Amino acid sequence: MLSLPPSTSHTPSPEETNADVLRWQGRYRAIFVSLVGFSTIILKWFGVISAQSIFVGVLSERHLLLLVSGMVLVYLAFHRLLTAHLQHSGRAGSRLVIGAIASDVLILFGGVVLMTPPEQYGRALIVSIFTVQITQVFFGWMPTIANLVLIAVGYTAMVALAADMGRLPSPAEELWTLALYCIGVLVYVALQGQVAARMQRLVTLFGRAQEGDFSMRYEEDVEPLPDPVSVIGRAYNRMRDHLQAIVLTDPLSGCYNRRGLNQLAEREVSRAVRQKKELAVLAIDVDHFKRINDEFGHLTGDEVIREVGRLLRETAREVDVVARFGGEEFTILAPESNDEGALILAERVMSAFRAHRFRSLPPEIRITVSLGVAASFAHDDEVAKTLLARADEALYVAKRNGRDQAVLWHAGMRAFDGTQAGRISRPTTGGMLRVAE
Ligand code: GH3
Ligand code: MG
Ligand code: MG
Repeated sequence: MLSLPPSTSHTPSPEETNADVLRWQGRYRAIFVSLVGFSTIILKWFGVISAQSIFVGVLSERHLLLLVSGMVLVYLAFHRLLTAHLQHSGRAGSRLVIGAIASDVLILFGGVVLMTPPEQYGRALIVSIFTVQITQVFFGWMPTIANLVLIAVGYTAMVALAADMGRLPSPAEELWTLALYCIGVLVYVALQGQVAARMQRLVTLFGRAQEGDFSMRYEEDVEPLPDPVSVIGRAYNRMRDHLQAIVLTDPLSGCYNRRGLNQLAEREVSRAVRQKKELAVLAIDVDHFKRINDEFGHLTGDEVIREVGRLLRETAREVDVVARFGGEEFTILAPESNDEGALILAERVMSAFRAHRFRSLPPEIRITVSLGVAASFAHDDEVAKTLLARADEALYVAKRNGRDQAVLWHAGMRAFDGTQAGRISRPTTGGMLRVAE
């Protein structure tokens, strides 16, 4: 099978991706926590927001603000160190990821419990929706669940503490808020996760197309919702149809090119292996094509190749794959065909050429073709390669035996050592072709 050169780009491991994301997030964490933390401290300091937390009375307002400032500074220092470590190691396992998430939960719930009255604890939940969403997008499900558990533990601890200090008359209401929050956030991130999974499927489709494999379509029937992912999926399908035609077809003859043949051969072979069916390959080469070029020029030669392609496609069955293998050589891959069937097709091809008047050539000029034919049961995935080689060998014999004929490959045929083997004579009555012993 023809294959593209392997991609040289390195696919990062999950640990490397985690490290990249954490490093990138580190900057935004620092900006966000500094902004929110210090503006809250300033607003409190100047008495713009003045409602008292459960700790007023235990500590003075000034000490509380100093404590929160200290927490913010410790948080910033922790993330500075984490970034430096990630820069050095380039990898972050799930423990480091969860550590970073835990630091977010700690600063958020710690700040809220130290500066906010119990009636406003819901603020911590509102802000933490954002952290869960970010975690799900960048780190997947396991850290997301860990994040939710940390939030639930943090919120419950805050509520318990406030209730203990007699500042929360109905803690059960707060726990019910927490339960509703968890349900809502889980549904939200589940939907988001589904979108991410569908996007990932699209990425796979694009990756396959990049490799020249257009066999997969975006499943419009399975995902009929007109959301942005489906819109991209449908756009992909339109692009795929167009690109497929460009990438898998030979522009001159209109037949499949080698890559198209390889791709369809893969599909046909796996079907034949599955269904234990036979498969045939016809290698076709135009006889004395150089003379056409020499006498009428290359442009006319091209026109002839165009007509040869059309003639072969018209002569082959709907299920056959007609490909231009290169130059004036063509290949027909004929599914569900044994020796007899393949020879009938070969005879049909030769008859079509004998009867055809090429538009680009004077009417007295006839073009004939030689064919090598090979058929076999599809025992394994290598059968197409084997049949191509055998058909080529048989084609060589057909040429050597005088052209304008089809030769069926058989075991023991020694095309390339000068023995005369497997000759098929063209029947004068249009009967079936047979291998000459
Ligand atoms: P044979 O019967 O042994 O096949 O003789 P031949 O003259 O056909 O010889 P061969 O198959 O070796 O050469 C094919 C020629 O086809 C060689 C090249 O000049 C010509 N050819 C290959 N590709 C193209 C093409 O795209 N356009 C044109 N016009 N000619 C081509
Ligand atoms: Mg030729
Ligand atoms: Mg040739």
